[in-house]
Amino acid sequence: MAPTYMCPVCGCDGLDEPPYDAEGLGNYDICPSCGYEYGVTDDDMGFTHEEWRQRWIDGGMRWRHDSKPSNWDPVAQLSRVQPKP
Ligand SMILES: [Zn+2]
Repeated sequence: MAPTYMCPVCGCDGLDEPPYDAEGLGNYDICPSCGYEYGVTDDDMGFTHEEWRQRWIDGGMRWRHDSKPSNWDPVAQLSRVQPKP
């Protein structure tokens, strides 16, 4: 199985490339879960990961891509990136 990388915004563990390179530049991939586009949503649109995560939660945590995994659990994936209370 190919290695996967985690979205730092929503915790989705399905990226096939690291979202940022060693210099912190986005790779222009779009997260299939929260829709964050690394290098665009942050650099061009000005959303931090935390802001976008909150927007995504407020919007009902919808899967953005058309191939939603049948066992997808948005709350479980969020627990990977949210600080413990
Ligand atoms: Zn994401």
